[in-house]
Amino acid sequence: MIADVIESLKKQLGAVSLMAVSKTRTLDEVRRAVECGQRLFGENHVQEIEAKFAPGTALPSSVRCEMIGHLQSNKVRKAVMYASRIDSVDSVGLALKISDEALRQGKVMPVLLEVNCSGEDAKTGFSPDTILSAVAQIRELPGIRIEGFMTVGPVLCTVGTEIWRQKTRSAFRQLRSIRDEAVRKWPEDNMSELSMGMSHDWEIAVEEGSTMVRIGTMIFGERNYG
Ligand SMILES: *Cc1c(COP(=O)(O)O)cnc(C)c1O
Repeated sequence: MIADVIESLKKQLGAVSLMAVSKTRTLDEVRRAVECGQRLFGENHVQEIEAKFAPGTALPSSVRCEMIGHLQSNKVRKAVMYASRIDSVDSVGLALKISDEALRQGKVMPVLLEVNCSGEDAKTGFSPDTILSAVAQIRELPGIRIEGFMTVGPVLCTVGTEIWRQKTRSAFRQLRSIRDEAVRKWPEDNMSELSMGMSHDWEIAVEEGSTMVRIGTMIFGERNYG
């Protein structure tokens, strides 16, 4: 079943990358997706990245996992150690800590900056008004490389309604225009990644120019947080 979903998604996505979001899933479930050819995973807790993706879990070395959840300062060391990219950088302070830690570990950490494009209060992320000045500061940090932007579509309105459709499209469109502006301002930086779209809204995200969708439920089924 996982195989069918991954295959059909990949066919529909074409050049858009597929991240399989494996939060709450077991290492066995991850292995099954890997057997179907899936290489890119996303997790929103550092502990889960460490448990499933740290060296020693016997997954092929081509398997990568990116951090997509809010990162607390005290988890930065392990995130830099085990995540192949941190896609949820949501403050300049956090970026500073990541940069310092990356230098300490002798690397440059690839990141995406998360933007709250739907204006929902509970969400983390830079506001669209401040994102470009944040980019200007963060791109100067020696231990960080900004590869693009990430957003989560609106979650407070009912999926499938016309208002949901409009808000979702406008959030994704806004992230794209932020990305376009950043690329125009700093063309040598390669900040072209646009991570947007989840199980319920990935089609709209792709229509609006997503380069990477983050799919959990569609691949693995409903999550059980027990
Ligand atoms: C859980 C999660 C996803 C995947 O959501 P699904 O609805 O299961 O596809 C994508 N992005 C982020 C940031 C998540 O936390």
